[in-house]
Amino acid sequence: MRDKLSAFGLLLLVGVAGVCPAAVEYQEGAAIVVPAAACEVAKLAARELQSYVEKATGVRMEIVEEGDAPNAAPQRLYLGATRAARQAGIDAAGLPRDAYHIRTSGDAAYIVGGDRGGDPLNLQTAAGTLLGVYEILDRSLGVRWLWPGQSGEFVPRSVSLRIEDRDETVLPRFRFCGLRTGRAEEVLWMRRMRMHGADGMQYGHSFGAWGEQYFARHPDWFEMDPQGVRHPDKSMCVSNPGLHRQIVENWWARQQARPGVREIVNVCENDGPGACCCPNCLAWDGPQPPWPRPTPYDNVHCVSRRYARFQMEVLKLAREHDPDAEVVGYAYSNIVFAPTGLQLDKQVVMGYVPDVFFPRTPEQQDWVLRQWLGWEEAGATLFLRPNYLLHGYCMPVNWSRQWAEEFQLFAGHGMIGTDFDSLTGMWSTMGLPLYVLGRLHVDPDRPPESVLEEYYSCFGPAGEHVRAYWDYWERYSFEQIDAFKDGLWQYARYPETAARRFAPECFSPAEEILAKATAAAAQDEDARVKVAFLSTGLQHAQLCVEASIAFAQAGDDEARRRAAVEKLAAFRKTITDPMIVNVSDGNDSCRAREANLGWPQ
Ligand SMILES: [Zn+2]
Repeated sequence: MRDKLSAFGLLLLVGVAGVCPAAVEYQEGAAIVVPAAACEVAKLAARELQSYVEKATGVRMEIVEEGDAPNAAPQRLYLGATRAARQAGIDAAGLPRDAYHIRTSGDAAYIVGGDRGGDPLNLQTAAGTLLGVYEILDRSLGVRWLWPGQSGEFVPRSVSLRIEDRDETVLPRFRFCGLRTGRAEEVLWMRRMRMHGADGMQYGHSFGAWGEQYFARHPDWFEMDPQGVRHPDKSMCVSNPGLHRQIVENWWARQQARPGVREIVNVCENDGPGACCCPNCLAWDGPQPPWPRPTPYDNVHCVSRRYARFQMEVLKLAREHDPDAEVVGYAYSNIVFAPTGLQLDKQVVMGYVPDVFFPRTPEQQDWVLRQWLGWEEAGATLFLRPNYLLHGYCMPVNWSRQWAEEFQLFAGHGMIGTDFDSLTGMWSTMGLPLYVLGRLHVDPDRPPESVLEEYYSCFGPAGEHVRAYWDYWERYSFEQIDAFKDGLWQYARYPETAARRFAPECFSPAEEILAKATAAAAQDEDARVKVAFLSTGLQHAQLCVEASIAFAQAGDDEARRRAAVEKLAAFRKTITDPMIVNVSDGNDSCRAREANLGWPQ
């Protein structure tokens, strides 16, 4: 039997190899045609296509606006909602947001998205045409973006742009996905990883203003402490029916003010544990989950069932107005534990916040994955909204494989979206796991090893050394896992403990590997620049550790404190590519972390 199967498999392979799908090759003279008065999404899509086709093939395709007469170019690539696409029967308006249709037909190709105007560098802007262009650049030309900015680009030489014959609509794999950042280069990178927003998903800690608005009249809607006293600015008394009615009333008023725009009912608890101690709330709680609980919230009372029931109660009321209403909450803090003993409707959407940072022990990893599966089993619709990117400062880390395991398990178990808080932007030292994450958003089923291979291969002759480099850091962090295991809030003071996790001597083996990579890349300019990107980040991390040690030794001596960071400050002035390390841009930059400890700026 086995032999027969093998023979059959071989025949099949030969058969497949013999088939060469028809395709169109775009030659000199081909034009990119955008609609007259094109939206910004279509314009950016055109510029990206033009730029990368030229880099890959040397052929510069002209970008032209659609005019009254048919375009006379011998080959035409129509982007966005052109009249030609409409005449070909492709209806842009009928496409869901961020979906796109690709059709090749002789010497014309159409990439048409459900775009609706707006800034393409805002993930909330529907950008199907742009996402379709990135698919072509990825699949047809093999363009890679290892990190944001020019040095992260990898554009293999191609004879021509060749698009296989097809006629299909590609729907987004997720309802929404992305990482939170204010840096435009990083948003562009996310677009290249096909990330996008969604309509109506306004959520987040939702009761911040309720104390001022309602506490005087309705103190019973607010948290009761163990002594029986109510507080306006903590969590809510979520078993209170009056609270449910007010939430739905407010939501429905907003819905009526904006007809046609469905907004999810946001009941995400304030930023802290759900802690009402009133008898009703306590009566809604289930059995307490067993120990150990490897979360930073392990010493608190579990209220998952209470909050799950709260969402079901709100959903019931919201459905009186809109049978398709959805209610969103956060499974975080002491709501993170999978609830037991109740069944949730699919319209209960939970943002899962696994505040167990990487690298994780096997027990921690198992715990995080099991809570997700428990929420799925309870019936909730889930998305991933972690805080764990806050960690790590600017140190070299690689937990790609562990992160991929989490992502792929969630993707295979109902994940509708991702929303990663606080992309710190340390691309030279944390770039590999981020690249794996980005590529798994494009194809969640792809073996992580193939993404790793892809990344290393972009370093050309230095690829094998770059693999050894990242393997070193992966091995290091898991061997030293006790030094990395710590509470959630350590991230803000990470520079203080950087030397405990990364003793100065741990850098030497990594430096030696990168020296080999540098030598191997000497004759390949693109690879040389990429290896230098990694080297600069490594040097910077080392100097941060040195500064951390010197700063601790300086005590209150102001002159010594200044001297402790002098070398680091001078080095930072030489860093020209802001994607190597985020020195000072925003709340999660190096300087923001160092400011928490009083390092001289
Ligand atoms: Zn209560």
